Amino acid sequence: MEKNTLLVLENFIGGKFVPCTAQIDSYDPSTGEVYCKVPDSGEEEVDAAVQAAKDAFPGWSARSPDQRAQVLNKLADLIEGHLEEFAQAESRDQGKTVTFARTVDIPRSAYNFRFFASSVLHHTTDCSQMDHMGCLNYTVRCPVGVAGLISPWNLPLYLLTWKIAPAIAAGNTVVAKPSEMSSVTAWMMCKLMHQAGVPSGVVNIVFGLGSRAGDALVGHPEVPLISFTGSTATARHITERSAPYCKKLSLELGGKNPALVFADADLDRCIETTVRSSFSNQGEICLCTSRIYVERSIYATFLEKFVAAARKWKTGVPSDPGNNNGALISKEHLEKVRSFVALAKSEGATVHCGEGINHPDLPNRNINGYFMAATVISGVADSSRVMQDEIFGPVTCVSPFDGEDEAVAKANGVRYGLAATVWSRDVGKVHRVARRLQTGLVWTNCWLVRDLNLPFGGMKNSGVGREGGRDSYHFFTEVKTITIKH
Ligand code: NAD
Repeated sequence: MEKNTLLVLENFIGGKFVPCTAQIDSYDPSTGEVYCKVPDSGEEEVDAAVQAAKDAFPGWSARSPDQRAQVLNKLADLIEGHLEEFAQAESRDQGKTVTFARTVDIPRSAYNFRFFASSVLHHTTDCSQMDHMGCLNYTVRCPVGVAGLISPWNLPLYLLTWKIAPAIAAGNTVVAKPSEMSSVTAWMMCKLMHQAGVPSGVVNIVFGLGSRAGDALVGHPEVPLISFTGSTATARHITERSAPYCKKLSLELGGKNPALVFADADLDRCIETTVRSSFSNQGEICLCTSRIYVERSIYATFLEKFVAAARKWKTGVPSDPGNNNGALISKEHLEKVRSFVALAKSEGATVHCGEGINHPDLPNRNINGYFMAATVISGVADSSRVMQDEIFGPVTCVSPFDGEDEAVAKANGVRYGLAATVWSRDVGKVHRVARRLQTGLVWTNCWLVRDLNLPFGGMKNSGVGREGGRDSYHFFTEVKTITIKH
C-alpha cells in the first residue's frame, strides 16, 4: 500500500463486498497514524447479513460434513498460500511483531479450518437400549441456524477463525463481527471465500463498533446463538441483551492468570517460559501470566533471574525480527496499562524493569507508537487492583508464598478463572494443586501447549462454556433425543 493511501474496508454480505456510508478510523499502533477506514455498521447492515445467512442455511446445512470439510480445507490452503500478506497485515493492524503473526496468528488461523474440517468427520452421537420397554433411544445433532460471532482485537484472525470454522463445519451459516480495532485480516479473508467454494451467504462479515453492530447482532431475533470472546464487562451486556431471546451463549472472557513456582521447580525452564507467558504478544493474550507466586525459599533468586530475563525481552518496531514485542493496540489501552504501573508505585510497590525504567529504542517514525517495555513489579498486596484486575499488557507481578495451601488460596483469590501454570518436579504435588485450582486450564511445567480436541474456556468471571473439538461441535449444534418403540 502507498504511504498516506487509506485502506477502506467494506462489509461482506451475501458473497459481495458492500460499502458502508459511515466509517471508523483505524490506527497503525506502531506509528499512531490513521491508516484504515472500517465500516461503522448498524442495524441495517446486520439485518442484511442475517437475511443472507438465513437464505444460505438450507443449502449449506444439507451438504454432507465431508462436502463442507472440502471447502474448509480449501480455505485453509488459500490462507496458507497468502501467509506472508496476512502476517504483514495483522502486524500493521494490531501492533504485534510480524514474526508473531507469521509463526502464531496466521498458521493457527489456517489450522483452525483444517482442524474442524477433520474433526467434524469424527463425531458420533449417543444411543441407549431400554429392552424392558421395547425402546431404543438415540440422539441426533442439528446445526442451529445463523450463528452470531463476536471477536476481540488481540488475536484477530486466529480467534475469528476459531469460531467461523466449527460453526460452518457443523452446517450453520454465520454473521461475524470482528473488533473495530483489528478488522483488516478478516476483510482480506473474505476475498478468498469464492475461490474456496464457500457459497454466498454462508460467511458474512459486518464490521463496526460493539455498541452498534455488535449490539444489533446480539439483539437480532433470528440469531439464536452468540459465540463471544472479549472482556467480562462486555459479556455482561451481551448476557442481558440476549436474555429476552433465550439465546445460546458461549463466553470466552478475561483472565488474571497465576503461575505457581515451587522450590523444586526447574528454574531455568520456568523462567524462560514464564517470561514468554507474561509478555508474549505484548501481554495481550487472555492466557498471559500476570501474577507469579514463588515459594519463599527461592523467591529472591527467582526474582533476580526473572528480572534479568525480562530485561532481555525486546520491544520495538514490529517488523524487526530481533524484537519480541511490538506496540500495544491503542493509545487508550497503553494509558490504561500504564495507569496500573502508576497505581502499583503509589501503593509502594517496586518496579524492577520496563515502564519508567528502560524505554524501547524507536526510530523517529515510530515515536508516537504505543510501545511499552516488559515490566516486572513486586511488593503489591494481593488485594490491590493491580493483582485483581486484568491488565492485558506487558506487566507481571511477583510475590512470595509459603506452602501448597497458601499458593492455591492466592491463585484462587481473584474473580477470574481462566488459566494457571504450576512449576514443580513433584508429580503428586502438581496433581493435587491442579485439581484444587479454580481455572479452566492448568499447564504444568509448560504454557500454551494446546490439543484443540480438548476443552478450552474459563471458570468464574472468565467465561461460560467451553470450546474445542467436541465442545465447539456441541455448542454449534442442537441435540435431540429420539425414542423408538418396536
Ligand atoms: P471487548 O469486550 O471490548 O470487545 C470484544 C468484541 O466485542 C469486539 O468485537 C467489540 O466490538 C464487541 N463489543 C463491545 N461491546 C459490545 C456490545 N455491547 N455488544 C456486542 N458486542 C460488543 O474486548 P477486547 O478489548 O476487544 O478484547 C480484550 C478482552 O478479550 C480481554 O478481556 C481478554 O482477556 C479477552 N479475551 C479472552 C479470550 C478467551 O479465549 N477467554 C481470548 C482473547 C481475549
